[in-house]
Formats: sequence, C-alpha cells, structure tokens
Amino acid sequence: MRNERVAVVTGASRGIGREVAHELAQKGLRVILTARDPANGEAALSTLAAEGLPVAFHVLDVRRVDEASKLAKWLEREFGRVDVLVNNAGVMLDPRGARLATLDLNVVRDTFETNVFGAIIVSQALLPLMRKGGYGRIVNVSSGLGQLESMGAGTPAYRLSKAALNALTRTLAAELEGTGVKVNAMCPGWVRTDMGGRSAPRSAAQGADTAVWLATLPDDGPTGGFFRDRKQVAW
Ligand code: NAP
Repeated sequence: MRNERVAVVTGASRGIGREVAHELAQKGLRVILTARDPANGEAALSTLAAEGLPVAFHVLDVRRVDEASKLAKWLEREFGRVDVLVNNAGVMLDPRGARLATLDLNVVRDTFETNVFGAIIVSQALLPLMRKGGYGRIVNVSSGLGQLESMGAGTPAYRLSKAALNALTRTLAAELEGTGVKVNAMCPGWVRTDMGGRSAPRSAAQGADTAVWLATLPDDGPTGGFFRDRKQVAW
C-alpha cells in the first residue's frame, strides 16, 4: 500500500471537477480523474500530467453501478485505499422556462439519475475502502439552487435534485459519525463553465476552493454541513 492519499473526482473532464482535481493533485494527493467519456477524461488528464502532477484516469459514468464497482476494485488493487471522493458530476437538464407543474417527468428522472443516484452509487461503491482505512472525505458539489431556505421557481428538476443531494449529505454524515469519514456539501457559487455560462462572475478556481478545502479537512473538521466560501450556510 502506498502512503499518499488517493482522491477520486467525478465529472473531472471539465469545469469545476477538472479544477478540483488539479488543485488536489497540486496539494500532493494522488488524484483519479473520472469521466464517462474516456476521450474527454484522457484529454483533461494529459494537461495535468504535463505539469508532472500525480494523476490517473478511470472511466466512470456515475449512473452505472457496474462502472462504480469496477472503479472500487481497481482502486483496491492499485492503491489499497481511497481517501477522498468529490461527487462533482452534475447536469442541469431543465428546458428554458421549465415549471414543475408541467415538466416532463423524464427530465426529473434523468436529472436525479446523475445528481442524486450518481452520488449514492459512487459513495456506496467507495465507502467500504474508506471504512477500511478509517478515513474519508466525501464532498458533494451541490448548489444554492438546492437551498430550501431560499427555494423558489425556475430550473425545478435541478433544484429538487440538489435539495435531495443535501439531504443525502446529512443522512450519510449521520450514519458515518465516528468512523473517520466526513460528508459535506458545498455550493461553488455561479461559475464560468459549460453549465454556468460565460457571464458567470466566478472562475473555476474560485468555484473549486471550498470543495478542495472540504476534501482535505483535518480530523477536527466539520461533517454533515453545507458550505459556501468555506463558511457554513443554511440548508
Ligand atoms: P460542467 O462544465 O457542465 O461539467 C459537468 C461535468 O459533469 C462534466 O465533466 C460532465 O461530463 C460530468 N457529468 C455529467 N453527467 C455525468 C455522468 N453521468 N457521469 C459522469 N460525469 C458526468 O459543469 P460545472 O459547472 O463544472 O458543474 C460541476 C458541478 O457544480 C455540478 O454538480 C453542478 O451542478 C455544480 N454547480 C455548478 C454551478 C455553476 O455555476 N457552474 C453552480 C452551482 C453548482 P461530460 O463531459 O461527460 O458531460
């Protein structure tokens, strides 16, 4: 077994996920970039590897239980451990002007498949290895659009999925209390990515910062919380 911490980032082919992978590798973690499309994943990998960073790629569509299970087996074989999971992969599928009252249910289902079931599937697959090591940091990349405190209309499937991801965060954190595995959710703010668009005010690095912080929390750090800019925010 090697000594360096091993981190898995989902949806690391671009945007916030690629930046989180980049920054964790710069901190010395061995980072496994995952993506559903190997060509996109390998392209992201090669830019980081060119900097001499400790990175590798493994294919993972977060909706696929079989792929998550293969990833877990590969991690066990290669490293004997996994320390960090950043559930970053996400989709916003609501059509412009979508309203829940009339929304095609398939949009809701597809959104939940990735944003909610994806996070459950990958967490379930990697948790046995985290438990074995007595250490884990699970970071769920959520959104202010999932905050119940300010919940409103617009992008309904996305909002519901991120509220569910927040609930998942609290439930899993409570289950894992005392195991050394911490589970937190974060909001990256409005970030310039394919999803956020070009007029978003934040860079990918600004969006990634809180996720990287949560992924490397010390033992006395929080669990079961929701954070933006490294500060706890309301659910
Ligand atoms: P992005 O540029 O659209 O990137 C999304 C990533 O998720 C892509 O790498 C995409 O891969 C991947 N993905 C989608 N479905 C997947 C699946 N089934 N399996 C594996 N990977 C999958 O968006 P982003 O802005 O970086 O978003 C990252 C996270 O931040 C998301 O969870 C999003 O909801 C959240 N967020 C973003 C903003 C923002 O303003 N940008 C604000 C709040 C929260 P493909 O290339 O294969 O599609």
